[in-house]
Amino acid sequence: MVTKFKEKESIVTKFIDLILPEPLLRAAAELKYYNPTPIQELCIPWLLENAGDLIAVAQTGTGKTAAFGFPILNHTNIELAAVQTLILCPTRELCLQIHSDFTDFTRYMPRIKLAAVYGGASMQKQKDALKAGAQIVAGTPGRVYDLIRQNLLKLEQLTCLVLDEADEMLNMGFQEELFAILSCCPEARQTLLFSATMPQTVVKLADTFLKEPHQIGVADQQQGVGNILHYYYKVHARDKYLALKRIADMNPNIYGIIFCRTRHETQEIADKLQQDGYNADALHGDLSQGQRELVMNRFRSKYVRLLVATDVAARGLDVDDLSHIINYNLPTEPDLYIHRSGRTGRAGKKGISLSIIHSKEMTALQAIERRLGREIVFTRVPGGREICEKQLYNFIDMVERIEVDQEQIDSFLPNVYKKLSWMSREELIQRFVSVEFNRFLSYYKNLNDLDVVTDGAKKADKSTFQFKTFRLGIGKADAVTKREIMRYINQLRVTRSIEIGQIEIYDKHLLIELDSTYEYQLLKAIPRVKFKGKAISISSVESSLSRKSKSAYKGRKSR
Ligand code: AMP
Repeated sequence: MVTKFKEKESIVTKFIDLILPEPLLRAAAELKYYNPTPIQELCIPWLLENAGDLIAVAQTGTGKTAAFGFPILNHTNIELAAVQTLILCPTRELCLQIHSDFTDFTRYMPRIKLAAVYGGASMQKQKDALKAGAQIVAGTPGRVYDLIRQNLLKLEQLTCLVLDEADEMLNMGFQEELFAILSCCPEARQTLLFSATMPQTVVKLADTFLKEPHQIGVADQQQGVGNILHYYYKVHARDKYLALKRIADMNPNIYGIIFCRTRHETQEIADKLQQDGYNADALHGDLSQGQRELVMNRFRSKYVRLLVATDVAARGLDVDDLSHIINYNLPTEPDLYIHRSGRTGRAGKKGISLSIIHSKEMTALQAIERRLGREIVFTRVPGGREICEKQLYNFIDMVERIEVDQEQIDSFLPNVYKKLSWMSREELIQRFVSVEFNRFLSYYKNLNDLDVVTDGAKKADKSTFQFKTFRLGIGKADAVTKREIMRYINQLRVTRSIEIGQIEIYDKHLLIELDSTYEYQLLKAIPRVKFKGKAISISSVESSLSRKSKSAYKGRKSR
């Protein structure tokens, strides 16, 4: 029976406080898992001490792989070369992700052997991995069942079965395979069910196959956390407003809330933004009910794109599709930050939470990171050149998309053509772009960078940059070469010259290491710039590529 969900008090606050073997703690530290995420705080200690079944409601992005991964690795018998844990998941991508996460977790556990088995790929490699004595297998239900039937995947020694994204597996029609696989597993096993939602189908699955499961739910405010990217800018206190303007200019289609602490500051920032030509307004406690409603309606209808608000005033506002939350000031309480940022990244969409801080706020930022269970990543305030470029291309996009009302405009055109006939096509384009663009060019001409670069913000320093791995949705099927992809990245011009690390090209996607400082800009730029006429999807991948040829592409930039 599935009983009512109950919340548990937090037990630990640091990863190193978990009673885990040293190789796992070392790997966690290298992965920068300094603090357990809420789901890890609840799952890891319980799983370390209990062999019973578990249901955990957790979405992707909450750190659930480590929540079950670390205890499973702790319990794995390295002397036994047989499958001890089977992790079932709905897609090949998730299967590879789990495999890659476990590879990271076991970097100091060389005797642990892993296998990933999924459809649409050759069986031979997967069979070899099983034969080599894999103790932990991640797989999609169809392929796992095939391998069980061929007696290539043997489950006699299985002690733990994980159903990851159980709701998705059922949604994708894997019910039959799941029931068949579950019936092949030994009775005396532990079953862990992870699911983002608990529809009746999942409850029924749990009722049938789990025994008196312990239940873990994670507070609502943490849901969707994985959809939100958290960044901070570090500037002098006097430059905060300038940084805010740059952020707004860098995101021409921004629709967000700027949080300030006081009513006075809220009004002041909104006034300044209005004077500077932004569609902004203020929402705070000094407004009458009528004024409040007017502002909220203008914001809901997206006439106002930037709402400057205090925490209290924004409470009554329910808007689902905000692109950004900007913390002009950090909130006094870490929970308020979670509340603020939880207003973006809703309904399955990606959201961005940005904080503009000065040097003295680093401690407050770290307290928020601890509560959030995630790193808030340093990023640079966009430079004038980047912003001008962004605005220019946004303008050109608008021109491309605009619908011409032929009927209305036809009668004026002959005279317009005549008047402009003395100009060449190039000249015409230059002038027409300048009409819109001169404002930005003249404002940003000769403006300095705003970042305060100190130890805490050293990722901005070129000599100490870090690579981050990105997954791009193009691969061998698109006949892409490493040289072409480097040229493409350079042409994006997210910065003057971006460091490129390793590139691994697969059938339908590729992994590429790029300077992590520009993650935000890359995530925004790549989907907009086509490669050989194809739009490319991009996501960041937490694990790094193997280090065998670390600086393979250093010094081979195409620019
Ligand atoms: P998952 O929900 O397992 O897909 O994890 C989401 C992302 O969070 C992954 O990229 C993990 O590497 C990362 N992650 C997991 N646990 C932690 C942690 N304790 N601290 C920081 N990042 C984490």
